[in-house]
Amino acid sequence: MKVSAEILNLIPYKPGKPIAETQRDYGLKEVIKLASNENPLGPSPKAIEAVKLFLMQQHRYPDSVGYELVQKISEVWRVPASQVALGNGSNEIIDLLIRIYCEPGDSILTSESAFIAYQVCAQAARVRVRTVPLRSDLTMDLKAIADYFFRNPTMNIRMIFIPNPNNPTGTLVGGEELDEFLVRLGNRDDVLLVFDEAYTEFVRDKNFKEAARFYKDYSNVLVLKTFSKVYGMAGLRLGALLAPEYVLEYYNRVRNPFNINDLAQVAGISALEDEEYIANSQKTVWEGLDYFYKELTRLKLPYYPSQANFVLFDTKRNAEQAYVNLLKKGLILRPVQNYGFKTFLRMTVGKMEENKKAIIAIEKMLTEVSEVG
Ligand SMILES: *Cc1c(COP(=O)(O)O)cnc(C)c1O
Repeated sequence: MKVSAEILNLIPYKPGKPIAETQRDYGLKEVIKLASNENPLGPSPKAIEAVKLFLMQQHRYPDSVGYELVQKISEVWRVPASQVALGNGSNEIIDLLIRIYCEPGDSILTSESAFIAYQVCAQAARVRVRTVPLRSDLTMDLKAIADYFFRNPTMNIRMIFIPNPNNPTGTLVGGEELDEFLVRLGNRDDVLLVFDEAYTEFVRDKNFKEAARFYKDYSNVLVLKTFSKVYGMAGLRLGALLAPEYVLEYYNRVRNPFNINDLAQVAGISALEDEEYIANSQKTVWEGLDYFYKELTRLKLPYYPSQANFVLFDTKRNAEQAYVNLLKKGLILRPVQNYGFKTFLRMTVGKMEENKKAIIAIEKMLTEVSEVG
């Protein structure tokens, strides 16, 4: 059977290497995984309790619309319940939005080194991915993105994806640049502006403007939220879409009716309520980042200050060799060659004792893998 060129050329998303696999591959007992921007604290204890209770209900189909969870999201995030839909992680939402709004041959537009899920989902839907270069400080160039849109009307650019902050760079866009972008592209009916806000709870930069707060002022601004990061539920798969009703109308038509199992639904409600856990998660990340900055500076390894729960740093070595060397020491970081960074690794903030062990492993690696020009 013939498949399309896009599918033939599709490079599948490569997740962080799992702990159990690393233990098997290298015969290790203790492995630290700082590779997937997960919450190192484990799930919220309140979410665990809720899931335990709901295990007894698993012979039933889940609530298809996630009524209780949507109400809770509406209350905690201060958004109308009619503008909230749920997804099996934000990845599913990205996938469905592209399928809804793009036909084969249409385009999506984003930045170079933007979160790779947009590319994978677009290609699977035979949609072209157009990118604009990052600035030298690895921030997205919103002006260049808007210029690109207006210069290329024949490309049928249907959606613009703005991961804010971005993964794997940890940088954000905000301030006047964002205002100007919205003046130029907001309220158009031929393009959707999708703000992917997976890490906003970790942002410390005062320049930041959260789309979850301003999307209501525009007819074409959408926001993706995830429960995989600050809410500590990456395994349960839960994401949310904040969008005008006309978008949700189509979204709810195409999604699988039971895309969110009810363990994720009840865990989500409890996680949203657990303010202490969220505050702890933020504190863990901020202290961990500051520790990493200090240690990376000591090791003379350049890094990009991050507004998320990870840091992108330059090993000054072949990143694949550095990565494998660290795996053998029981430390899983994330290679980012697929984002165009040949000597960089991405390191998620863990618990402080994990962070310390990671730095010890990296310091040892530096003496074993030779530096490149
Ligand atoms: C981690 C991450 C997500 C979350 O994806 P899920 O499918 O919800 O786990 C979304 N966007 C970005 C930019 C991310 O880094």
